[in-house]
Amino acid sequence: RAKELGQGRSAYYSAEVGVVTRERTRLLHGLQRAFDHERLFVVYQPQISLLSGQTIGVEALLRWRTEDGQFVPPDRFIPVAEQSGLIVAIGAWVLRTSLYALGQLRAGGAGDLRMAVNVSSVQLAQPQFLQIVDQALRDTGMPADCLELEITESVAVMGMERVATLLRDIKSRGIAVAIDDFGTGFSSLSYLDRLPADRLKIDRAFVMSLDSGRLGARIAEMIVPLGHQLGMKVLAEGVENETQASLLRDLGCDEAQGYLYAKPMPLEELGPWLAQRRGWAP
Ligand code: C2E
Ligand code: MG
Ligand code: MG
Ligand code: MG
Repeated sequence: RAKELGQGRSAYYSAEVGVVTRERTRLLHGLQRAFDHERLFVVYQPQISLLSGQTIGVEALLRWRTEDGQFVPPDRFIPVAEQSGLIVAIGAWVLRTSLYALGQLRAGGAGDLRMAVNVSSVQLAQPQFLQIVDQALRDTGMPADCLELEITESVAVMGMERVATLLRDIKSRGIAVAIDDFGTGFSSLSYLDRLPADRLKIDRAFVMSLDSGRLGARIAEMIVPLGHQLGMKVLAEGVENETQASLLRDLGCDEAQGYLYAKPMPLEELGPWLAQRRGWAP
């Protein structure tokens, strides 16, 4: 009986694994097709200075709309792109596309905006990573200091020595580095100190509980001085209301991003949005 039960269980598990694998394969093929047929696109979300109210930059966020008009969220397809290595080609395309978009915005009078681009540790671990970045800057004619790369604490899997060297190379070009989703990874303060980053992004989870008096609020309170101590600007992600914005301002948080200011939007909408925000619009 025990044996039967055992066999039943393993059969159950392998059936599950089969379903997960098939689902992943289906997603991967769909993503590859979408990439080949230019059905991926990039939207941009403004980042705001809490001090001046100025828009200091925008973050590029990848979107996939399938043929039947459904959106697949990045949190679902990025992991598949990472596992398959497709993220390397897609990531290079996101870099070029968003830098080109920044050129368009600047040509339209947008001023000194910065473009923040998410890069996965799979991309960073590629030996050609820096060449890909240099190429994207050359192709679009954009200066290195308008680019910021958003990395997460998961880069630690590359080994801290290697990450530290790579980040130094990135920074020596004038490119900025942000640590994304801070506080959600397997953070270790000992290596935070070894990541020469310019900006620390407080994860939305902590911002959400800011006005609740719960633990998340205490964590956001601690991250701000921590980032400052390490010489970084601190940006809060996912700010949705004025209460959160003013609490963050009181904590000394430098910058914010979230639905309170703007949702991620296509380039065609961002130009007018920026103009209106600056009061240039008629
Ligand atoms: P992330 O880089 O932390 O991006 C922030 C996410 O929060 C975005 O989700 C954004 O749309 C969402 N967001 C911003 N403000 C608010 C708000 O006020 N409320 C709420 N509820 N959400 C807000 P999105 O676009 O679905 O992206 C999810 C994640 O996918 C990103 O998290 C990033 O890790 C990854 N991702 C997106 N585009 C790329 C890309 O081009 N390359 C790589 N490697 N990863 C990407
Ligand atoms: Mg990000
Ligand atoms: Mg984030
Ligand atoms: Mg995230």
